[in-house]
Amino acid sequence: MNKITMSVGSGGASTRSFVSDIIFSRLGNEILNKASDSAILDVSSKTAFTTDSYVVRPEFFPGGDIGKISICGTVNDLLVSGAVPKYLSFGLIVPEGYLVSDLERILDSMAAECRKAGVKVVCGDTKVVEKGAVDGLIINTSGIGDAVYNYTDVSNIKEGDAVIITSDIARHGMSVMLARGELGFEGEILSDCACLLDIFESIAGMNVKFARDATRGGVAAVLNEIASDCGLGFLMKESDIPIHENVGYLCDMLGFDPLAVANEGLAVIIVEQGEAEAVLEKIKNCESGKRASVCGIVEGKNVVLETAIGGKRHIEMPSGELLPRIC
Ligand code: MG
Repeated sequence: MNKITMSVGSGGASTRSFVSDIIFSRLGNEILNKASDSAILDVSSKTAFTTDSYVVRPEFFPGGDIGKISICGTVNDLLVSGAVPKYLSFGLIVPEGYLVSDLERILDSMAAECRKAGVKVVCGDTKVVEKGAVDGLIINTSGIGDAVYNYTDVSNIKEGDAVIITSDIARHGMSVMLARGELGFEGEILSDCACLLDIFESIAGMNVKFARDATRGGVAAVLNEIASDCGLGFLMKESDIPIHENVGYLCDMLGFDPLAVANEGLAVIIVEQGEAEAVLEKIKNCESGKRASVCGIVEGKNVVLETAIGGKRHIEMPSGELLPRIC
C-alpha cells in the first residue's frame, strides 16, 4: 500500500492491519497494544489534562514536522503547568490518497519525541476522509500528567519577580513562513520545536512561581495574558531578549515584531528575583535552554519594552491572525 485508502478507516481487516503495521509498530506499548475501547491508567489523585489540535502547513519544516509538534506541544503544556507528563492520546484525520511513506515519517517523529519526553501513547483513533475534504493531515493529541507542582497560579506573582525566557524567540514562526516559500527568499531557519522536559526536570523543586509556553502569539501574547490575569505589568529589556541574528533580520525586513511571532520550544518562567540566577544556570545547562536569559521584571501595570537605545514602548497583545496554521 503506497497511499491511504478509504478502507483503512472502515473498521475492518484493512483497519486492523494498518493499526498493527503502521501504528503499533511505532507507538505501541503494553497499554496501547491491548487495543481495548478505553485505556486503563494508573494516575495520581491530582492530574493535569490538556488537549491541542495540529494543522501546521507545510507538514514538514526545518527542525520538525506535524508529528513532532503534536507531541512537543502537548507535553510542553503539561510541563509548564508543573505536571510530569505520562500518557497521551492521538487522533489522526487523514485524507484519502495520503502517502503512506509521509505518514510513516510523521509517526516516526511522534515515537521519537515520546521516547524523549518519557510518555506513552495509550489510545488513538484514525479517520480517513474523502480526497479534498481536508488539505492534509490533521492531528489531535491530548495528554495527562501527575500535577506535582503548581505553575499556573497568577496570584503567586509579585512586583519585582524576574522573568526568564528559556530560548531565542520567533524561530518557529519564521521557519514555517520561509518553508512555505511565499516570501521570495532562499534559505532556511530551524524551528525551535522541542520538548522542554530537560528544563522542567532540572528546575523541579526550585521556587518557580509561574510558567507558560509562548506558542501562537509569541512572548507578547503570554506576557499580556499574564498581566491581565494578575493585574501587574512587566518591564522587559530588549537587549536581554535572546534572538538569532538571522531571525531578527528577517523579522525586520518583513515588518514583524519578533515578540509576537510563534515559538514551539520556549517557556516564559517567573521566579523570585533572588533565585533568578540559580534557576537560569540550571536552564542554561539543558539542551533546549542554552540561550535562556533573565530579561525582565514584574513592574507596574503595563507590558513595556525598554528598547536597545533606551526608549520605552508598550508590548501590545497581538491582534488578528499573524500567521495562520503555524501549529
Ligand atoms: Mg500553552
